[in-house]
Amino acid sequence: MKRGILFVMSGPSGTGKGTVCAELLKTEPIFLSVSATTREKRKGETEGVTYNYLSEEEFKALIETDEMLEYAQYSGNYYGTPKAYVEEQLSKGRDVILEIEIQGARKIKKKFPEAVLVFVTAPSMEVLRERLVGRGTETAEVIHQRLARAAQEAEGVDEYDYVLVNDQLDEAVDRLHGIIQSEHFSMKRNLDFIHEIQAQAAKFTEN
Ligand code: 5GP
Repeated sequence: MKRGILFVMSGPSGTGKGTVCAELLKTEPIFLSVSATTREKRKGETEGVTYNYLSEEEFKALIETDEMLEYAQYSGNYYGTPKAYVEEQLSKGRDVILEIEIQGARKIKKKFPEAVLVFVTAPSMEVLRERLVGRGTETAEVIHQRLARAAQEAEGVDEYDYVLVNDQLDEAVDRLHGIIQSEHFSMKRNLDFIHEIQAQAAKFTEN
C-alpha cells in the first residue's frame, strides 16, 4: 500500500493556520496529529483534542523514550509531535497534517524529505498584529514576543515548499486543497505506477 503524505503547516500565531486546518478537515480525508505541550491550557481548549497537556517531567520522559517525532521550545514551553499516531496513519496510506512551528518543521523535513511544508502567512505584519490584539487571549507582552518571533520565523521560509497567504479563509482552504491534490499527482510520488504502465507498454511492443 502507498504511504500517506505528511503535510506540515507552520506560520506565526495569528495567521489563522489553525482555522484553515480545521476547515480543511471538514472535507479532506486527512488526519490531524494532536501535539503534546507543557504550556497552560487556554480557555476554550480541550485536553486530547487541542493538545495533550503534560508536565515538563512527562514531556522529557517522552523525549527520553524516543516517542517524539520532533519537539521544540517556543515561548518558554515545550511542544512536540507524538510519533506513534503519525507513523500509524501514514503506514495505513492516510495523509497526516502537523501544525507546528518552524524548528520542528525543519526537523521533520530532515527526517522525512518527502514531507510537504506549507508556510501560512497573513497578508501583512499589520494584519497579523491586529488579529493577535483582536483575539484578546494574550497579554501585550506575549503579543510583542509573538510578533518578534514571527519576524524571526520569516527568515527560515525558503525551506518550505509552499506559501499560503491567509487573506480570505475560504480561498486559503481551497488553495490548501489544491496543494494536497497536486502532491498526490506529482510524478515523484507516482513512479511505481508509471513504471507499471511502462512495463505494460513494453509487453505490447514484444508481441
Ligand atoms: P500555541 O501556544 O499558540 O498553541 O502554539 C505555539 C506554537 O507552537 C505554534 O506555532 C504551533 O504551531 C506550535 N506547535 C504546536 N504543536 C507543536 C508541535 O508538536 N511541535 C512543534 N515544533 N511546534 C508545535
